[in-house]
Amino acid sequence: MPSCAQAATPPEAVIYEAVTREAETQEIGAHRVGPNSVTQLIAALDAAGEERLKARVFHSAGCGRYLDAPPTEMVPEQEPAFLHRALIDLAAPETAAAIAIDAGHRTGAYVIANRIPAPARAILKLLPARVAAPMLAKAIARHAWTFCGSGAVAVRDAGPRTLEIRIDGNALATPGCPWHGAVFETLFRRLAGARARVSHPECMARGDAACRFEVRY
Ligand SMILES: [Zn+2]
Repeated sequence: MPSCAQAATPPEAVIYEAVTREAETQEIGAHRVGPNSVTQLIAALDAAGEERLKARVFHSAGCGRYLDAPPTEMVPEQEPAFLHRALIDLAAPETAAAIAIDAGHRTGAYVIANRIPAPARAILKLLPARVAAPMLAKAIARHAWTFCGSGAVAVRDAGPRTLEIRIDGNALATPGCPWHGAVFETLFRRLAGARARVSHPECMARGDAACRFEVRY
């Protein structure tokens, strides 16, 4: 039996609710991340001479087509997530970590060369680290969707010369997140002080509530 409240719901409200739910469903299924999360993994596997491992990782993640035609547009966040998981499952731990780190450094270098305008690069390099690092962190947070998909990124001061980058719902989390750590390390070292160090004290893939990175600069 419908309650009085349900019976009184105007049809427009019912339609609105249904449309909203549909839009949310599509949104959830449509989160995308930058193609570098895939292409730089290919580059790192090639640089390591891991041709067979590359084929196994990409085919087992359902991404074999990218071996012939690497993505040039944003990709569904599940694809790099599956690829990084497959790398962990199929490679020796030290090999998987080294390749994820190299892919992260390559991604950071690509972002610097292609996504940060030359004048902004020049200004960041000229500024002292205490000014450049927070500016860079804010820029990273603004473009967070390119590397964490449906995750939410927040940046805050975390003590003297220390910033915290927190990713809730990190779609690409792997234990210790070596790829993310290397991306951040390259960005901060090249643009906000060569001494910048990144640590990852809390990680979703290790049971923590969120992925929390600390950048000391
Ligand atoms: Zn993590």
